[in-house]
Amino acid sequence: MMDLHCHIDLYPSPVQVINKAREAGLYVLSVTTTPKAWEKTYELTKHIPRFQTSLGLHPQLAHLREHEIDLFDSLFDKTNYIGEIGLDGSHEYKKYMPSQLRVFRHILNLCKSEPSKILTVHSRGAAKEVLSELECFGNVGKVILHWYTGTKKDLLRALNLNCWFSVGPAMLMSEKGKKILSWIPEDRILLETDGPFATFNGKPLEPVDVNILISYFSELWQKSDRDVLLVLRNNLKNLSI
Ligand code: MN
Repeated sequence: MMDLHCHIDLYPSPVQVINKAREAGLYVLSVTTTPKAWEKTYELTKHIPRFQTSLGLHPQLAHLREHEIDLFDSLFDKTNYIGEIGLDGSHEYKKYMPSQLRVFRHILNLCKSEPSKILTVHSRGAAKEVLSELECFGNVGKVILHWYTGTKKDLLRALNLNCWFSVGPAMLMSEKGKKILSWIPEDRILLETDGPFATFNGKPLEPVDVNILISYFSELWQKSDRDVLLVLRNNLKNLSI
């Protein structure tokens, strides 16, 4: 199984979390929120097969870390994974949209020059804006929309762009989240936790918790747990992480 969006470096005891995920044989995409964090986060898991570390500049930090964009550029060739990047249109961050857009566009431009990477993209309160950027840039690599919360209409736009969707147990905590899970075609779904930020029943999620989703999909898709695992495994293969 897989957790394609978690913040390994932000757990109080990363090594414990890593070991549990490793024992479970999970594929893990360890995402970063600032270019400065990349090297140390990479060091945590570079020796572990199936673990990858992506280079990011989180939209909620864009206005504070825009100056790290040069460092982002210099690290770009070190990894095939980019994120967490994107736009955040929620109330607290909307006012920083100009800075967010500068950072996001800079990174998309870079990705366009070498469209072989996998991108994990945040779009909270800004699905429309993120999709407009992606439509405008064209091929920037393989895009995974992480924890999508937009409309059905925008979801269809995303599918037209061949986007993937990484979804986590936290989406089961709201009716809206569950509705979105029912909209996404089986063959575009990937799993994530967004731990330790995202919680489930009040507890921070960690990679092994992706299993919570298996029985949910088994009911939603009317498939056995085993067949759900096959679908997800096949999706991961098609993404070719
Ligand atoms: Mn995240």
